[in-house]
Amino acid sequence: MIDAPKPTNVTANRIMQVMSITWSDGHQSMYSFSLLRHACPCAECRGGHDKMGAEPDPGVFALPDEDSPTTHLSSIEGVGAYALTIGWEDGHHYGIYNWHYLRALCPCPECRS
Ligand SMILES: [Zn+2]
Ligand SMILES: [Zn+2]
Repeated sequence: MIDAPKPTNVTANRIMQVMSITWSDGHQSMYSFSLLRHACPCAECRGGHDKMGAEPDPGVFALPDEDSPTTHLSSIEGVGAYALTIGWEDGHHYGIYNWHYLRALCPCPECRS
């Protein structure tokens, strides 16, 4: 089994509206809250269980940043040792972002190329 990178540190900056993850392989990811919300992996946001892929929809990277209660992060909680759930100010908290998904969602130029 490959040793997939895992987060060693997760922080959220509500002023900058950015969540950052430091990975076990040293990579650093910075996600705007807006990107995280647009990429919410729950069945409702992805339009049904059959569309819940393991990878983010590439379209989310092209969406403009939004500043509203839907993109204001209210909580981050660990789910076992494999994922995070993120809660939003509009009460939405159904997305389970596993490590693979979060790493695939890294918007840095290196990961996007
Ligand atoms: Zn959702
Ligand atoms: Zn990256």
